[in-house]
Amino acid sequence: MAQVTGSARSAELAARAERVIPGGVNSPVRAFGSVGGTPRFIVSGRGAFVTDADGAHYIDLVASWGPALLGHAEPSVVAAVKEAAARGLGFGASAPIEAELAEEIISRVPGIERLRLVSTGTEATMSAIRLARGATGRPLIVKFAGHYHGHSDGLLAAAGSGLATLALPGSAGVTPETAGQTLVLPYNDTVALHAAFAEHGDRIAAVITEAAAANMGVVPPRPGFTRELIETAHRHGALVIMDEVLTGFRAGPGGFWGIECAGLPAHIAPDLFTFGKVIGGGLPLAALGGRAEIMELLAPLGPVYQAGTLSGNPVAAAAGLATLRGADAAAYERLLLASQGISVLVGTALAQAGVPHRIQRAGTLFSVLFGDFPEAPRGYDEVLGQETWRHRAFFHSMLEQGVSLPPSAFEAWFVTAAHNGDVVAQIAGALPAAARAAAAAERPVGV
Ligand code: PLP
Repeated sequence: MAQVTGSARSAELAARAERVIPGGVNSPVRAFGSVGGTPRFIVSGRGAFVTDADGAHYIDLVASWGPALLGHAEPSVVAAVKEAAARGLGFGASAPIEAELAEEIISRVPGIERLRLVSTGTEATMSAIRLARGATGRPLIVKFAGHYHGHSDGLLAAAGSGLATLALPGSAGVTPETAGQTLVLPYNDTVALHAAFAEHGDRIAAVITEAAAANMGVVPPRPGFTRELIETAHRHGALVIMDEVLTGFRAGPGGFWGIECAGLPAHIAPDLFTFGKVIGGGLPLAALGGRAEIMELLAPLGPVYQAGTLSGNPVAAAAGLATLRGADAAAYERLLLASQGISVLVGTALAQAGVPHRIQRAGTLFSVLFGDFPEAPRGYDEVLGQETWRHRAFFHSMLEQGVSLPPSAFEAWFVTAAHNGDVVAQIAGALPAAARAAAAAERPVGV
């Protein structure tokens, strides 16, 4: 692994991009807003590595924010994409591969009978919400603070912890009327859940939850919480939407629900699931699925409209299918080994440098919380207390040593099945200096 020598070309590219693209990026986290410095422009990736425009190689722990489960440019995925693309990029008519991909996903997750392919996770959750409202005839949605479900208006409402607060908009441009249709509850809090249903139960269409929260760092559900959530919602005639866009086929072979449902009676199950990321293998593809009686309320069979010019695109479907087929037991074994190996090494290095921290896990997903957390945090209010300035120092030290981490303290780390023992050993080599940088970091004035 080469030491990184500079980022002049990335800086030039960033300046050029800023002249034509707001903030120079097409998704905000790429701008390095919370860590500062020059975002690296990536020109290629292979296996566990990416290469930037200055020619520096990095071990990548972003993995395209999840889709690159098998590693970058995995030969079987690239071959499937080339083969599909050579036959045409899309037809606006059904292609055989769409049902093949749907069958593959359905076979992996208990309780899904029908699946609709869309292009992004945002579209999947937005459509699932419309479907839940259409199915129940009710207006309100419950979400949990700190859970991210994409950027559709009603789901950006994240403010207002406490009991069943009618949410404030989480972004300019979201009307109070739209935000007011979303109840935001503290995660892992059954008291708040019961109170919300006691007050609004007959108006709640659905509860949407990340299968394990992973967009505020990783915060898994407390034992029994998801079951309680499903039983409470169902008792009040509301649906449960399990958002597995991030965790699906990554936290484990059947997503995080695949881990959670083991040992539960079959009737305690979500009504709808959403997927993205891994099921597109790096191309734009996502899905919503669930029981036939609900899913068949979608057009053209039912009254809930949902459509997309690029939905089920055959090239994206080929990338997703090849990724899922490559995600066999051996791949999950490699993924788990890498994730456990790296998280233990990070914890050891931080402990040796005297940096207060906590490693958070959900299946093969993990994240690092900087700060004193004697107990595992349950929700958003607690993780907001982390020492983000230590993450910033840690991040930059790792980057300079050729390891690219997610540029925010509130993100999960994404390993791939290509992070083999050699790669893990190289990460181990970079950790002590990064841990010392985190130890030496000073709290900025006013934070
Ligand atoms: N749901 C979850 C749990 C996510 O993590 C994300 C994205 O990170 C989304 C939905 C939105 O997906 P997309 O970015 O593809 O719109």
